[in-house]
Amino acid sequence: MVTKLISFSLCLLAFLFFAYNGLAQSRDTLIGAVYVNKSLYKDREVLPDVYGKPNPRLQKSLTQVKGNLYRHTNDTIPSLHSGLVLITKAGAIVIDPALTPAAIWLNDEIKKRFKVPVKYVILTHAHYDHAGGSQIFQQNGAKVIIQKNGLEPIIGEKLPIAMPDIVYDKQLTIKLGGETVILHHIAPSHSNSMSIVSFPAYKALQLTDVGQSNTMPYNDFLDFYYDGWIETLDWVLQQDVDYIDIGHYTPATKETIKNERDYMVDLHQQVLNLVRQGQSWDQLYRNVKFSDKVKSWYGFATMSKLNILGMHRWVTNHRRGVW
Ligand SMILES: [Zn+2]
Repeated sequence: MVTKLISFSLCLLAFLFFAYNGLAQSRDTLIGAVYVNKSLYKDREVLPDVYGKPNPRLQKSLTQVKGNLYRHTNDTIPSLHSGLVLITKAGAIVIDPALTPAAIWLNDEIKKRFKVPVKYVILTHAHYDHAGGSQIFQQNGAKVIIQKNGLEPIIGEKLPIAMPDIVYDKQLTIKLGGETVILHHIAPSHSNSMSIVSFPAYKALQLTDVGQSNTMPYNDFLDFYYDGWIETLDWVLQQDVDYIDIGHYTPATKETIKNERDYMVDLHQQVLNLVRQGQSWDQLYRNVKFSDKVKSWYGFATMSKLNILGMHRWVTNHRRGVW
C-alpha cells in the first residue's frame, strides 16, 4: 500500500513537472517588459492617417535573409522603407510596418505564406513613416512594443498609429517559438526612443535611420542627438553581426557603419573648429570639406549642405565659450 502510494506520488510529480515545462515552453517570455495602461489613452486624439488606404500599385516585398529571418520593403513614400520580420512556429515578429498600405499587405502576406499570426510589432522609434500601420497589426491581435520615451511623442503629436501595448527602459528580450530577439536602447541618437533590435542566432541587427550603407544621413539630422548617435554606432561596431538593416535603401555592413561614424565625427569636428574660429554660417558652410568617398555616397548632392546645417545647429546649441 505504502509502495503504491509512493509510486503514485512520483507519477503525479513527474506529470506536474512535464506539464509545467510544456506550458513554459509554449508561453512567450518577455524579459524587461512594462505593460501600458491603455485605458488611460483610449479617447486620445489622432491626426488623419494620410496614407490610410490600401494601395494596389504599391511596390513591396518580403524576402528571406537567412533561416526564419525575412526583410520587408515598400515604397509608400518615394524613399524605400524596410524592416526585419522573424517567423516562428508560435507567431511572427514584425519590425516597423512603414505605413498603412504596407501593413495591410504584410499582415495578409504573413498569414497566407506562413500560416501564423503576427504576435509582436516592434517600433524602432516614434516617427510616423516607420511606425504608421502598426494599428493594422494591433487590430488583428498583435502587441505593439516601443521604448518608453516613444509614448510622449505618439500622444503629444497625435500620431495616427497604434497606442503601444508594451514599453521597456534599457533592454527587452522576447523569446517566442524557440527564437530570441533583443531590443536595446543604447542612447538617444535619431530620436530619444530608438531601439536597436538584435537577432543573435542570425548575426543580424535592425538599425533604422541611424545606420547608413554608403548613403548620407537624412537632411539636417531631424530629431538628432550627436553624442548618443556616436555611442550607438560604437556599440554596433562591437557586435558580432554581418547583416544590418537600416530601415531604408540596402542593408549596411560593419564597414559602412565604420565609414559613417568617421564621417559624422569629422563633420562635427570641422563645424566645431569653424564655429570656434568665429565663422558665420555663410562662411562656414562653404568651408566644410568632404572626402571623395563621402562625395560618392547616395544623396550627397541633396543632403550634404543640410547635414552641415544640422551639425551646425547641434554644435551651436552645445557650446558656450566666454561671454
Ligand atoms: Zn526616423
